[in-house]
Amino acid sequence: MTTRAPVTQDVMTIPRKLPESDKMNLVGLTRDQMRDALIEAGTPEKQAKMRTGQIWQWIYQWGVRDFAEMTNLAKAYRAMLDEKFTIEIPEVVSKQVSTDGTRKYLVRIAGGHEVEVVYIPEDDRGTLCISSQVGCTLTCSFCHTGTQKLVRNLTAGEIVGQIMMARDDLDEWPERGTRKDETRLLSNIVLMGMGEPLYNFENVRDAMKIAMDPEGISLSRRRITLSTSGVVPEIARTAEEIGCLLAISFHATTDEVRDVLVPINKRWNIETLLEALASYPKVSNSERITFEYVMLDGVNDTDADAHRLIEHIKRHKIPAKINLIPFNEWPGSPYKRSSNNRIRAFANIIYQAGYASPIRKTRGDDIMAACGQLKSATERARKSRKQIEAEAGLK
Ligand code: SAH
Ligand code: SF4
Repeated sequence: MTTRAPVTQDVMTIPRKLPESDKMNLVGLTRDQMRDALIEAGTPEKQAKMRTGQIWQWIYQWGVRDFAEMTNLAKAYRAMLDEKFTIEIPEVVSKQVSTDGTRKYLVRIAGGHEVEVVYIPEDDRGTLCISSQVGCTLTCSFCHTGTQKLVRNLTAGEIVGQIMMARDDLDEWPERGTRKDETRLLSNIVLMGMGEPLYNFENVRDAMKIAMDPEGISLSRRRITLSTSGVVPEIARTAEEIGCLLAISFHATTDEVRDVLVPINKRWNIETLLEALASYPKVSNSERITFEYVMLDGVNDTDADAHRLIEHIKRHKIPAKINLIPFNEWPGSPYKRSSNNRIRAFANIIYQAGYASPIRKTRGDDIMAACGQLKSATERARKSRKQIEAEAGLK
């Protein structure tokens, strides 16, 4: 049995810490980078690999943040580590719990910026939706994050730090010296929070490698899903260098409509995108690609759209499942959600064609934690209407 989050809505605010020192943060370094940093700090080269392995396990397997607790290292060595390094993750500024158990965290990263992280408990799994950027350079017209300017990319440490933060909150680090892997509260990761992960490729890749490392958080690559709006050149790299599952924000079946909904389509159109997707499963040795399709009333939700969607996928022989997302409204959003009957009819056409067509349950919308509603309340830098239109090529 998984533990359920309380069914109340509560908001708590945690006091902020003062800015940290200029010590180097070990969180987010790859194994090679950590090894180099330890050598730089005076660790004999011959020992560096072993020390990396030990420290790695303390940080990522047992969730330790204090060098003093790393009892298999000599005291003097721990003191040296403490002098030169820190183990830091983003700080939780506030946490809200939805009536359905969904938890939304606002976390603060260096520079005082804030991003949102959402935990979604289900009967057989728990999914953490993490962010890769503060804001987004893209301007998908139905997405709340898209109205916020890109402030900056998150570092690898800030990305994997979101997972560590959630494990803290769920109290899910195993006892020292043990591995508790059976039923995890946090069993799946989706890169579906704020930002376009493939515009922050290296940091996302390094963070996911850390999350997958068997001597640490050890999440299987099949439990990690990266969602992209369609940055075609990086799709092949994702297959080769990360190998996680892929979700594609498809959302329209003609270039004309997709150009408006997902403006990156003007750079890489539907046909180019489908070609890149067709080779993904083989290269990454994964099964199906998830096509995400947001249901917008009168915009992309006709029977003809459903048939065209299937035709695209079949033409390229892409193993696929189609995830229909009822549009989540946000203040000032220019679209309406398709009716339930329309969504069901659309799903049925897809199902009849032989594809799974689950309708995504809206989770956490009472706390604005649902898909596309994320936008940190404190980051009010808004793109001007003119700028959005210019980027979308509408004017
Ligand atoms: N930038 C990436 C990942 C973040 S968005 C991407 O675009 O894929 C995660 C998913 O939520 C995407 O499929 C996105 O299209 C969808 N989404 C955005 N705004 C939404 C909204 N208002 N309602 C429903 N889904 C939305
Ligand atoms: Fe950015 Fe994804 Fe939102 Fe588009 S849907 S604006 S790519 S976060």
